[in-house]
Amino acid sequence: MSDLVKTALVTGGSRGIGKSIVTRLALEGFQVYFTYKNSSQDAENICSELAKSKAVAKGFKLDSTDITAVKNFFKDEIKDKVELSVLVNNAGITRDGLLIRMKDENWTDVINTNLTSPFFFTQEAVKLMSKQRSGRIINISSVVAQTGAAGQANYVASKAGLIGLTKSVALEVASRNITVNAITPGFIETDMTAVLSEEISQNILKSIPLARFGVAEDISGAVAFLVGKDASYITGQVIAINGGLYM
Ligand code: NDP
Repeated sequence: MSDLVKTALVTGGSRGIGKSIVTRLALEGFQVYFTYKNSSQDAENICSELAKSKAVAKGFKLDSTDITAVKNFFKDEIKDKVELSVLVNNAGITRDGLLIRMKDENWTDVINTNLTSPFFFTQEAVKLMSKQRSGRIINISSVVAQTGAAGQANYVASKAGLIGLTKSVALEVASRNITVNAITPGFIETDMTAVLSEEISQNILKSIPLARFGVAEDISGAVAFLVGKDASYITGQVIAINGGLYM
């Protein structure tokens, strides 16, 4: 048994779904480390709010796409300092536009943030979890990975790639008692979806059988289940949480 503190690492934990995952896991007793790119004040607020409930979270300003910074973060903050029990690859961005007009950087930024960065975080995490012979990795993909979405070729490719990464790594690390699963949220009310026009939002709402948008807690609840003992035999799976959207 390790004396190190059981820690969950969540990327993009300052807002939206990530914030909800940080909060839920911290309240369930994990020490939670989370990353963000810009939102330092939001990160501080989350930590101080959780501290009132004696829950522990610590935010790190770390651009997920800066591979050297990510490797240094694991070396300086994680390796031999904590027991990395959980990794949630949550940080993600959209840069929507039709394929024909899509700028190169809008393709590259989305693929780097949503797919390449989870690859690097996963690689670093698996090295440590393999030695521990335990670990849970959860990748936040999207319903559009399963349906496609016009105007989101970059985003959909990144999120479908994340499902491929999930299934392949799950096979590679199962013998080390590490599980790897993906969640595909539908339309969840966060800053990411707040930018959509009222008309687009209403059209999406009409197509959701449960007739409501999702909330971040719909996703963090599933993460809490996947990291708990009842989920120890689940790996390589894609858990859809979308109100029935694509049925
Ligand atoms: P938000 O835009 O509300 O929050 C995104 C989070 O990611 C923020 O904490 C942001 O940090 C962080 N982030 C973005 N880029 C980087 C980076 N390069 N390095 C570090 N952190 C970064 O998004 P949501 O909460 O809505 O989405 C969370 C995840 O869920 C994403 O992967 C998204 O694709 C996925 N998803 C969301 C859906 C939805 O309907 N909302 C549906 C399906 C999937 P900062 O605050 O500093 O900018």
